[in-house]
Amino acid sequence: MECVFCKIVNKEIPAKIVYEDELIMAFHDIRPQAKIHILIIPKEHIPNNLYFEGRHKALIGHIILKANEIAKMFEIDKTGFRLIVNTGPDSGQEVFHVHWHLLGGEPLGKLIC
Ligand code: 5GP
Ligand code: ZN
Repeated sequence: MECVFCKIVNKEIPAKIVYEDELIMAFHDIRPQAKIHILIIPKEHIPNNLYFEGRHKALIGHIILKANEIAKMFEIDKTGFRLIVNTGPDSGQEVFHVHWHLLGGEPLGKLIC
């Protein structure tokens, strides 16, 4: 399997893991774009948001709720944070294993006015 995030899931390459359960994993981004930059991924290899199916509804909900818990772990629940899912070429998606960027720890600037 060539997927870098599957390799992290399988512990074939190291990552600074902050949370893991049977369904998902969260770890620090190797090139952080904010003071706090965590990636949250399903363990299942799903290339991007377009590949989610009805059977993934509970998984998606689990990730969103866990993002709140991770934000609390890093004490950015009160200061605020951003969750981003890049999908496809115009978004600049680089890793084709779906992931949520959890960004915070400093003012992030507005993306959409
Ligand atoms: P994308 O642009 O696909 O939404 O984001 C991919 C993210 O994965 C980037 O922010 C990049 O820094 C991060 N990344 C790529 N390879 C690795 C890796 O081997 N380990 C970790 N921890 N992050 C990675
Ligand atoms: Zn993968």
